[in-house]
Amino acid sequence: MAELTSLTVRELGARFRRRDIGPVEVALAYLARIEALDRDVRAYLTVTRDQALAQAAASEGRFHDGTARGPLDGVPVALKDLFCTRGVRTTAGSKILDGFAPPYDATVVARLVDAGAVTLGKLNMDEFAMGSSTEHSGFFTTRNPWDIDRVPGGSSGGASAAVAAGMAAASLGTDTGGSIRQPAAFCGVVGLKPTYGRVSRHGVIAFASSLDQVGPFARTVEDIALVLSAIAGPDPMDSTAVDTPVPDYAAELARGVEGLRIGIPAEYFIAGMDPEVESAVRAAIAVLEQLGARTEPVSLPHTEYGLAAYYVIAPAEASSNLARYDGVKYGLRAAGGKDLIDTSARTRAAGFGNEVKRRVMLGTYALSAGYYDAYYGRAQKIRTLVRRDFEQAFSRVDLIAAPTTPGVAFKLGERADPLSMYLNDVLTIPVNLAGLPGISVPGGFTAAGLPIGFQLIGPAFGEAAVLRAAHAYERATLWHTRQPALAAVRGGAA
Ligand code: GLN
Repeated sequence: MAELTSLTVRELGARFRRRDIGPVEVALAYLARIEALDRDVRAYLTVTRDQALAQAAASEGRFHDGTARGPLDGVPVALKDLFCTRGVRTTAGSKILDGFAPPYDATVVARLVDAGAVTLGKLNMDEFAMGSSTEHSGFFTTRNPWDIDRVPGGSSGGASAAVAAGMAAASLGTDTGGSIRQPAAFCGVVGLKPTYGRVSRHGVIAFASSLDQVGPFARTVEDIALVLSAIAGPDPMDSTAVDTPVPDYAAELARGVEGLRIGIPAEYFIAGMDPEVESAVRAAIAVLEQLGARTEPVSLPHTEYGLAAYYVIAPAEASSNLARYDGVKYGLRAAGGKDLIDTSARTRAAGFGNEVKRRVMLGTYALSAGYYDAYYGRAQKIRTLVRRDFEQAFSRVDLIAAPTTPGVAFKLGERADPLSMYLNDVLTIPVNLAGLPGISVPGGFTAAGLPIGFQLIGPAFGEAAVLRAAHAYERATLWHTRQPALAAVRGGAA
């Protein structure tokens, strides 16, 4: 069974078409593995077993009668619990939404289901996607499959851990300041944050609307390309999903990196970064050079201000987006309120965790009269400078290569201080501020066996080039073929 759950999306599709395995058998193997491993990893908030088996049976029927739909038909996937799923509990990792079952599917969910994918369930996350470790989940903390005393990263930590542990062939997350790339790096899987506007956000619970973007996790770059092609493109329900044509991303992969110009930003090799991360990333860059890419230094001088600007802009937008959780419209309603305002205040006090409250306070403060220009206005100016840094760099190079994070997965509880948690995203946030695509691919391991992430960044709508380079690197290194020692995860029961 372990064999079925280690096949890639591409391999599953090929074997379904040859009819040597079937979607029901594979769905059962995944459900059994979730049952065996998720007591320790805790990636899933909700497992939709019956729905998954019904979808798998329907898919199996299509393979029998020759009406199979494409590369995702029958493939088991799972979803960060930020995506609305019709009739299925959707929490955003927050107690304030516990018991909420949306009346519709997010566009990306509907697209996966239309493509024939089998949805296994909903994945743990930091509450409203605020965090870098899943320790801010309102329910429980997900563990890193490589070392269960360490965090899987966040906020999409359930989505990265599920793929790393073989509990989903691919998953969807969101990235507002790094929440796909950072957990991908920590769990040794591939994670792509597409260009702002590439993928619809209809039905995705909002955190910071000028930054949020949906993207896939998978074991290989090719699988990422297959999922991206299925979810990308315009949506009548989301005017921010732009009309740029969606290439066949998987077909672009074979073109290699010969002749690509790749910029190396000095500002992304910061003081205090883990020396093992730095040397792995320098080695990764050397691999791209051997494959025929030309590298040159580029400068992104406003990088150091990005983090500060983000922690004004994101909380400001979040404070506005989260105003809708008032105890009336969705989920939790605290008892005993003497009127509407009191009921709302009690509900928010009981339903939101500390990190969410901290962000709402930061955000409302930054937006308040008299402070708006000093904080929000200035942060927006910095955002423009960060974007211009990238524009200048991309006038000379095709891609930028850098570490995903300054360090590897940290121990549970180690970053209790909010500022040290925020610092995790210093190398991912500028990409969100500029609205660009970025990928994290497995780029090696520390001596202690923890995964290291290698980040490639492209110009707006440059996903095809990002994926090409990532694929070429992956083929040359094979880091992605290593899997966590799951016997250890099972606590020796194996
Ligand atoms: N860790 C960052 C934050 O806490 C980014 C989160 C995200 O990308 N959703 O805001």
